[in-house]
Amino acid sequence: MIGSGLPASPGAASGEIVFTSESAVAAEKEGRKVILVRTETSPEDIHGMHAAQGILTTRGGMTSHAAVVARGMGLPCVCGVGSLRVDMRNRELIAPGVKLKEGDIISIDGSSGHVLKGYQPMLQPELSGDFERIMAWADRIRRMRVRTNAETPADARAARAFGAEGIGLCRTEHMFFEGDRIAAMREMIIAETVDKRRAALNKLLPMQKDDFVELFEIMHGLPVTIRLLDPPLHEFLPKSEEEIDEVAATLGMEPIHFRERIEALHEFNPMLGHRGCRLHISHPEIVEMQARAIFEAAVEAARKTGEPVEPEIMVPVVGLKSELDYVKARIDEVARSVIAESGLKIAYLVGTMIELPRAALRAHVIAEVAEFFSYGTNDLTQTTFGMSRDDASSFLPTYMQKGIIERDPFVNLDFDGVGELIQIAAERGRRTRPGLKLGICGEHGGDPVSINYCEQWGLDYVSCSPFRVPIAKLAAAQATIRNGKKR
Ligand code: PEP
Ligand code: MG
Repeated sequence: MIGSGLPASPGAASGEIVFTSESAVAAEKEGRKVILVRTETSPEDIHGMHAAQGILTTRGGMTSHAAVVARGMGLPCVCGVGSLRVDMRNRELIAPGVKLKEGDIISIDGSSGHVLKGYQPMLQPELSGDFERIMAWADRIRRMRVRTNAETPADARAARAFGAEGIGLCRTEHMFFEGDRIAAMREMIIAETVDKRRAALNKLLPMQKDDFVELFEIMHGLPVTIRLLDPPLHEFLPKSEEEIDEVAATLGMEPIHFRERIEALHEFNPMLGHRGCRLHISHPEIVEMQARAIFEAAVEAARKTGEPVEPEIMVPVVGLKSELDYVKARIDEVARSVIAESGLKIAYLVGTMIELPRAALRAHVIAEVAEFFSYGTNDLTQTTFGMSRDDASSFLPTYMQKGIIERDPFVNLDFDGVGELIQIAAERGRRTRPGLKLGICGEHGGDPVSINYCEQWGLDYVSCSPFRVPIAKLAAAQATIRNGKKR
């Protein structure tokens, strides 16, 4: 073993080390199996991730780009292996006492977080009749529903095949990680004027609408929760000089002008910055475009399938009721227009994520507007502990080693602290709106320990990445048995 990190996405893989996505793509064309090794991944790496057998990053936590995207793809991934260092200049992976070159073989185990030298024998899991049988038992027993976090039609299909009961989180910004789409997204982010932003949004609208139609069709008869854009800027803007020049060329901008825009948008704490509903309040044209895409897609999918579609629209990073009031008013306005234009009645819900302590504490007030709550426990953990979800892997292993904390709270929900906020929000929200639907869509929604807590708190559903749906169903059934209540 040459290192150990976070078990970010289950499954194991062996392959040659490659340090860039281009090398991964080239290797795949030659039929070679590779592990993409990066300090951290960004949207540019999506092709490399598709081409690799597995992903290894030396930084980043359970909710980093690499972790979330790999889980969605069903690709093994180990993140935040702090004891390893990537030396890009010499193309080496440096472990204590070992130096590995590009082309050397490593293996990763995404279930344990282990990184090993050389090939390891693998066993392909097979789905026997036992799997179906256990899933059938779990389905019969569990009280909580299990939805999926999915944004692409491929994810949604995989999740449905695993028996997901709807989409609990469609991160719309992830719909633009692929291919050339990221260019339009970046154009929207860096736009200096409303007109320029609208022009970029007009490019995004048809892509978004088409994807929504497909998602509604795949999930027909099941609920689909679509979250408004929530792009932390550092995930979408290029960082290195080379990348900046490259992206400027794609956008047809002078590199110097592009650099100025990036500087103007620079944030010290992007995770606590201009993201979530804040973006929609500064630039309402964004929520207007998204609401239009959702409602027009609902109309189209309803016409195609002959069944009504009831989208659930979710507003991220809400801390104040007034934020939700403002965004909901824009959504309602667009709904009225699309209903008038199409002549079709569309039922929809507008809800919020509970991912800030303030939202949890003010849940009784927020529930006057929100028609459902979904706990965004990645951010709720980050903001409750005041620990950056992107940087915590640099000190959490030491915390665990020294017994300061028993478990990584980004992996297993912190029952006492974050859990108390979840409970407070559930009680206060339901006091205002009895029967308020409560779900969880942070990465904890696929973690058995956390799922057991969700049962105790009386949540209605958990939502997790497609490949974790079976384990979530099983954990939900076990939680029902442990806690003694049935559906
Ligand atoms: C969360 O914060 O838990 C969440 C689901 O949203 P994201 O991870 O996209 O911030
Ligand atoms: Mg969040």
